[in-house]
Amino acid sequence: MIFAFFKRLLGRTAATPQAGANPSSRGANPRRARSPRSKSPAPRTWKGAELGIRRDQISQAAIRTCEILQRGGFKAYVVGGGVRDSLLGLQPKDFDVATDATPEEVQALFRRARIIGRRFKIVHVMFGRETIETSTFRALQTDAETDEHGRVLRDNVYGSQHDDALRRDFTVNALYYDPIADVVIDELGGVQDLRARVLRMIGDPATRYREDPVRMLRTVRFASKLGFAVDPATLAPIRGLADLLENVPSARLFDEMLKLLESGHAMACLRRLREEGLHHGVLPLLDVILEQPHGERFVELALAQTDERVRAGKSISPGFLFASLLWQRVADRWQARREAGEHTIPALMQAMDTVLDEQAEKLAIQRRFIADMREIWGLQPRFDRTGRSAVRVLEHLRFRAGYDFMLLRVQAGELSAEIGQWWQDFVESDPAAREALLARTPIENRSGTPRRRRRRSSSRKSRPGEGGQDTLQSASTASPGHAPD
Ligand code: ATP
Ligand code: MG
Repeated sequence: MIFAFFKRLLGRTAATPQAGANPSSRGANPRRARSPRSKSPAPRTWKGAELGIRRDQISQAAIRTCEILQRGGFKAYVVGGGVRDSLLGLQPKDFDVATDATPEEVQALFRRARIIGRRFKIVHVMFGRETIETSTFRALQTDAETDEHGRVLRDNVYGSQHDDALRRDFTVNALYYDPIADVVIDELGGVQDLRARVLRMIGDPATRYREDPVRMLRTVRFASKLGFAVDPATLAPIRGLADLLENVPSARLFDEMLKLLESGHAMACLRRLREEGLHHGVLPLLDVILEQPHGERFVELALAQTDERVRAGKSISPGFLFASLLWQRVADRWQARREAGEHTIPALMQAMDTVLDEQAEKLAIQRRFIADMREIWGLQPRFDRTGRSAVRVLEHLRFRAGYDFMLLRVQAGELSAEIGQWWQDFVESDPAAREALLARTPIENRSGTPRRRRRRSSSRKSRPGEGGQDTLQSASTASPGHAPD
């Protein structure tokens, strides 16, 4: 530690600017004068107690990170959701730190710190199992490189604390808390908005959405999660700009969608996405799914369960979640193929491939989650009846997820309650009782799985790249390991 401190001091006298960095982050700040949005009022500072924030709400790891940075001669604050949620009396998901130290300077001060990211370096500072994302103050350049729609492709210039506040998305996300001095710094009126429970974009909302269309999803997420009203000027441009989501790399969309689904308010978020016309860009199948006879019910049940788990502090499985969101579509396709004479399992495999292909055009669900989805879906035919084959299903590595998914189907009325009960009894029984259950006459699902009560033309619309030869090939390459026998 002491060594690192001296190393830093020496490094400073050498004053070598870091690669790609604007070395303006400390002392006199040349960028401030040029900043396009610096008309804001002077920063206000508050003692923690005045706002009801306490040091013990902040993770020890975040406090340690700030302490060590400050002892090293740098500014360091907890920022973003960690401050916002603490001020609202909510449990923050994680804590981020912002500093005027460059990533290399940060790294030199900590024993376990890793620089990550190529486009813009940040440092992961690790304490035990906790990781504190530590980023150097940065500025949004007015002359940043953008695509033809205004999306910023590179924003890798360091800046002052003020610049750093301005480049953030919402005023309530631009509060800086110094846990050592116990002071909150508010440059942009975030405290006032927090008190009024208003979500307000910093700067000109349309421009900020163009710079990064993902911010539209963030508006929906924070409004739903926090129960905040969206400032009218922040809300207004979204409908007109919704299509810009098309230009966002699909992996980035996936990350943001996952945050939305894991917000503890997933159903509210999805409804709002739909209202604002944003779902076309992320979950194009959502309309189709919700229009299906039981689609809305199934998705609602799945999301209610997810929200409950998140709020209880439990982990959720993204694979299970996406499997739930897309299941009705798969079930529908599966049934159609079976009606056309295909065998149960190949029909299901084909249906899965088609649906995953349709979805992949918009949102790149990570491969490991796709594998989970296939396994969960692939196990479903095994639950459609009771009997001897149950023993082997139980041994499946993914049994628990498949089983939980089956219970959702029962709740949604897609699988008979009788079958659901049998499985529940079977899972919870000891070996002797299991034998007795196996000896019973097998029950076939009478609710009909999957079901297609009405052949509605509406569920057949908007299906780019539907079915056909192209998907037959991918179905045949599906891992046989996922296929139930
Ligand atoms: P939570 O972690 O609870 O979901 P958060 O506000 O911490 O919410 P993060 O995605 O962790 O959200 O981002 C941390 C902070 O970084 C935000 O509070 C915001 O200040 C800034 N930020 C994140 N994404 C963007 C973005 N797309 N545009 C501008 N600022 C952003
Ligand atoms: Mg966060």
